[in-house]
Amino acid sequence: MVQYKTEALVLHSRKYKEADGLLTLLTRHRGKVSAVARGIYKPGSKLRGGVQPFSLNAMLLNAGRSTLHSLNQSDCLEMFLPLRSDLDAMAAASYWAELLESFAMEEQEDTGMFQLALAGFYGLAACPEPLMIHALEIRLMNRMGYAPSFRVCAGCGKPIEPSPQYSFSADAGGLVCSHCRCEGQPVIRLGPAVISLWQGLENISLDKVNRIRPQPEVLGRLGKVSQAWILYQLGRPLKSWQVLKKMEV
Ligand SMILES: [Zn+2]
Repeated sequence: MVQYKTEALVLHSRKYKEADGLLTLLTRHRGKVSAVARGIYKPGSKLRGGVQPFSLNAMLLNAGRSTLHSLNQSDCLEMFLPLRSDLDAMAAASYWAELLESFAMEEQEDTGMFQLALAGFYGLAACPEPLMIHALEIRLMNRMGYAPSFRVCAGCGKPIEPSPQYSFSADAGGLVCSHCRCEGQPVIRLGPAVISLWQGLENISLDKVNRIRPQPEVLGRLGKVSQAWILYQLGRPLKSWQVLKKMEV
């Protein structure tokens, strides 16, 4: 058994056996970790306050031979109260947590990913809006090395000529030119404003995201591209998309 201390974000928590909790954590030093929190569903559990979903905690854990670690102690550092106070914010935070859980690597240190995760929860607490969600999705995809191709055709590699309408194919890896677009291939049509918005969201500081005011149809189209892209990378839909639909993300 090796005991270690780390900061950890609780991405997911569910009941396990009678009164234990099974947690999915994103830790600063060990990447994604599964941990059992014993007795948290018993009345008066001291650990309970340090295992809330989307909270940042200073944790003391034990790592054994199994991939399931056990939680010894947890002190909450940041509860992100705004993420608990309204349904849209909660839905956005659940989605961000599910995205991180889906893409983060198990037991591999990635402090950049941890910092992005943390910045994302702070960002959503300040601005739980579709634009913030997309800014986070795009940053996460870029971080994983899954940036789509917007400058050159994902099929033939030739520069994309300026046009009022482009064709995006998640299967191909980004924009496809008219020569590479196959008959019957599912594509999303999008204009230059969608690409500008995507590229703007890649680099803008998260505390300035709410200053952007895109046209609703541009934002909607960007959401379609982003969702198709994530679905392709992950190979399965995310559960929280159902909830987010209500937010029209
Ligand atoms: Zn091409």
